[in-house]
Amino acid sequence: MKMPVLFVGHGSPMNAVNDNPFKEEWIRLGSQLKPKAILCVSAHWYTKGTRINPKETPEQIYDMYGFPPELYQVRYPAPGSPVLAERVKELLGDTVSFNEDWGIDHGTWSVLKWMFPHADIPIVQLSIDGTQTGSFHLGLGHELAPLRDEGILIIGSGNIVHNLRRIDWNSTGGYDWAYEFDGTIKAMIQAGQFEQIADYKALGPSAVLAVPTPDHFYPLLYVLGAADHSDAVHCFNESCELGSISMTGYLIG
Ligand code: ZN
Repeated sequence: MKMPVLFVGHGSPMNAVNDNPFKEEWIRLGSQLKPKAILCVSAHWYTKGTRINPKETPEQIYDMYGFPPELYQVRYPAPGSPVLAERVKELLGDTVSFNEDWGIDHGTWSVLKWMFPHADIPIVQLSIDGTQTGSFHLGLGHELAPLRDEGILIIGSGNIVHNLRRIDWNSTGGYDWAYEFDGTIKAMIQAGQFEQIADYKALGPSAVLAVPTPDHFYPLLYVLGAADHSDAVHCFNESCELGSISMTGYLIG
């Protein structure tokens, strides 16, 4: 059976420990999916050049600072998969290189600890080449699409709206422009306008505010690149929080 592809809005690292509706949805999604392994593109492995970690036992890393101690006590000892890393290398060729400097970061474990709580599904992280364009990332996603027929779940973990400078810690919702951009992307995903999404800068003033830097947006492009236009689109956790973060996610296929 062909695996769907998944984009998750991970939001605050505290979602790894907080009780909220987002994690309820992640638990529900995880209970429906039985992948052989996971290829995760996290916003937090942002590099020059595309890298993949082929380690048998990747380290869990705590790449966030100034949070309560309980967050640094979350353990997610999932295995890696050298076989999957090799397979990705086969699909992407010289574009990708092996690299063991990074581990399983919080963009990955803060969500997967809810989805797959037993930490028994192998995880391989693929980095995002921050020097490349949106259409490059969409293209890489497309080249990864054959993995879906091999039982691999491709996950992009970021946030469609992510502006840390505009965060309002007292807000439980979002700014008008946050809802506007989140809604625009939703309509475009449903209409299969993936190339236009990759060219997000052309989407007007709300795009400038929602995506001031593309690190949290690019994971979505891998997911869309690996999607078929005939795939069903399921939107979940559709919401904004802290003013300038959207938690919206998509299960496609
Ligand atoms: Zn993040």
